[in-house]
Formats: sequence, C-alpha cells, structure tokens
Amino acid sequence: MSAATILKKAIENSLSAGITRTGETLGYIRPSSLSWGCLLYVAREILKTPKPELDNRVKRILDSGITSHDRIPKYFADLLVARELAFVDEEYRIRGQCDALIYIPPSLSAEKTGFYVVEIKTASELEYDRIKQAGQPREDHTLQCLIYTWGIHRYYHVLTPRGGIIYYENRNTLEYLLFDVEYEEARLSPLLDQVEQMLADVRQGRLPEHQQPVEHCSYCAYLDICDVGQQAVAQRKREGGALPDRVLAKIIAERIVKKKKLEPSKRHAPRSLEELSSHFGWGGE
Ligand code: SF4
Repeated sequence: MSAATILKKAIENSLSAGITRTGETLGYIRPSSLSWGCLLYVAREILKTPKPELDNRVKRILDSGITSHDRIPKYFADLLVARELAFVDEEYRIRGQCDALIYIPPSLSAEKTGFYVVEIKTASELEYDRIKQAGQPREDHTLQCLIYTWGIHRYYHVLTPRGGIIYYENRNTLEYLLFDVEYEEARLSPLLDQVEQMLADVRQGRLPEHQQPVEHCSYCAYLDICDVGQQAVAQRKREGGALPDRVLAKIIAERIVKKKKLEPSKRHAPRSLEELSSHFGWGGE
C-alpha cells in the first residue's frame, strides 16, 4: 500500500468518524438547539445520537423556510453585506451561520450606523399572531440572535455587529414584523457557563444532570429515549394540557374574527347574471 493510500485511508476514517483537526470526536452545538433551552438535547446532539426521520409535512415546512431565506434578504439588498455568514467557536464548540448581516450607513442614521445580524423566521398564522400580540420576539429566537451576534464578534474580530434584528414572516399572508435585539454579552454568560459544564460532562461520558424539562418536550426528537421529557409530558397530560382553555378560546375567536374581516363582503361579491336578475326581479314571464 502506498503512502498516499494510507493517508487517504486516514482522511476517510477521520471524516467518517467525525474526528476534527483537534482530535475532538464531538459534534458542534447549533445556536438553534442551544436556544431551545435543553442542554440534555444539546448533549445528545453533539454526541450524534440518531434522531428519527422527519415526517414529510415537516420536511415541506423546512423547505419552505429555506426558500424564504433565499427570497427575504432581496428585500433589503441595499443594506445587505453578507448572507449565511458562518462562524465557529472552538472553545464552546458552537457553530452556526446567521441568515444575513446588514450595514446601516451614517447617511441613514448617524446614531444607529453599524453592522447588524438579521435572523429570519417564518411562522404559522397562529404563531405569528401570538408574537404580534405579545409585541416582542420569542425568547428562544432572541437568544439565538444574541448567539449569532456573539459568534460573529468572536470569529471575525473586526466585524462587530451592534445588535440583531429578527424578521418574522407569516407563512400564509407574507406579512412581516421586525424586532430589534440589543446585544448584551452579559445575557449569554450564564448560558455559556452551562455549555462549559455540559462539555466537561460529555467528555467524561456523562449526560448533563439536573436538566429541567422544557415546554416543547412533546415535540422533541429525543422524547422516546428521554426519561426527563417523558415524565414531563405524562405530568402535563395528567394536568390537562399546557394551554388553558380560555387562552385557546381567545386565540381561536380572534382568528375567526380576523378571517371574517378578510373575507370579501357578500354584498359586493361578484354575482352571476342569474343571481342579479333574480335580485332585481327581472325574471321572465
Ligand atoms: S425530551 Fe425534553 S428534556 Fe428530554 S432531551 Fe428533549 S427537550 Fe430535553
């Protein structure tokens, strides 16, 4: 066997085993997973615990999200500096890419001039309405945006985003909402401390302990193998669901009213000749 063949074998083995340059066998943490709120989930992900395959409906939703991520930055092309800007942080093993980076020039605002991370989220109508009513972005999305801002700071050094903006799009109506996310590094400190501890645990072959269940355990890909999540889901079932009935009723009622307002009025709806003639009493003898 030639030296080149031996080297090729080593390269292929290392890539298939997920071994990095530093000899690390762990995967990387995705900002979206970190902001999900469960370090048990993150630990399983970087340990490359297999997940069940997504069903086709979810795949289509994800596909539609990807298409939107291509389309939406075109709307602010004048301010766009980069799309899908990647960063890696070896210390915390966080790897991600922010959807877009924009630059606000001094000619538009002397006070706000600088770079900003833009995080694009598409949402179902119900989710979009909830965010609109709350008048603020979801906490996990804010956290995700902060992680991107932090990551770009640490990786590029000279690119120092002043903060972030979250762009929500309603998947049905294509309405959109924007929220500023002020960059406060201190807000990430407790989370980064937890990541450090979690990495130390998994390197010693332990999953993080004391993880509290999160409200979305029932949608978690690891629910089938997670005792913490299963107990939480069973408990919620016993308590009769997470969303109080009156909150659910309010959301449904508001959606009905909104739909009614959007429906064309029957008085002005186009009518056939037959309907018009009967309305005006033009019926034949
Ligand atoms: S089921 Fe819940 S507690 Fe378990 S890994 Fe998933 S999110 Fe975390």
